[in-house]
Amino acid sequence: MKTITKRLAIVLTTKCTLRCRLCSNHIPRFEKPAHTPYSEIVSDLDHIFELFDYIDWLQLVGGEVFMRRDIGEIIEYAFKYKAKFKKMVIMTNATVLPRGTGMAVLKQHGKDCLIQISDYGPLSSKKDYLLKSLEQNEISCVVKQYYGDNQYYGGWIDNTNREPFSGCDEELKSLTAQCPQVVMQNMHSFGGKLYPCCNSCFLSELGAVHSTKADFIDLNDTNISTEEKRAILSTFYLSPHASCRVCRWYDCNNANVRRHPAAEQI
Ligand code: SF4
Repeated sequence: MKTITKRLAIVLTTKCTLRCRLCSNHIPRFEKPAHTPYSEIVSDLDHIFELFDYIDWLQLVGGEVFMRRDIGEIIEYAFKYKAKFKKMVIMTNATVLPRGTGMAVLKQHGKDCLIQISDYGPLSSKKDYLLKSLEQNEISCVVKQYYGDNQYYGGWIDNTNREPFSGCDEELKSLTAQCPQVVMQNMHSFGGKLYPCCNSCFLSELGAVHSTKADFIDLNDTNISTEEKRAILSTFYLSPHASCRVCRWYDCNNANVRRHPAAEQI
């Protein structure tokens, strides 16, 4: 059986140019934000494409990924595996422009890339320039408006209240089965570990939840065969993970959940 996922995000950095109070990746909580070393990123990419036959969206996420001077080299390396993914999707807040060889490499792979801009109004100070450069270089992009009265999805949810879920296991299982992160199969890879979703990744890395071996795959673990890792992957979304007990993301499409203006700065 082929091992396929809809989305897989590589976390390139926990550095960001903004400090958003309700950041869905909990970035302002990192006391020592850092770029993931290039050697770890390429090692993770090698392990990931050994495990997966195909990935729809290979995403590059942060923090703000365009803060990296080696973004061009990272994109170039990932494109070694182009036969195994449909599109590379790069998330940015449009506060900085691609550095180094970034734009040239994007131009080279333009038709296979999508730049996803979170537009925070005046905070996204490089948006117009970035849009112009992307257009000139024939690189696709989408802009999500996160300012003013008509914000994408009505704004952000507050997922910072980590009161543990008080219901029974079966109830949590049925709630998390509908979590958008589960439906999107939005796996996240960070420093040698592969997590089932963004919250399991960032909350575990922050030490806010105690993830066990059932909650992630150690990509560097040579005691587990590739086949065994694939077997774990096939059960990734069958049960809630430790992070689901302190996360409310499963409820985020509920019309009763309050939406907040995006990108309020701390
Ligand atoms: S509810 Fe669980 S699966 Fe959904 S985002 Fe939160 S931790 Fe991930």
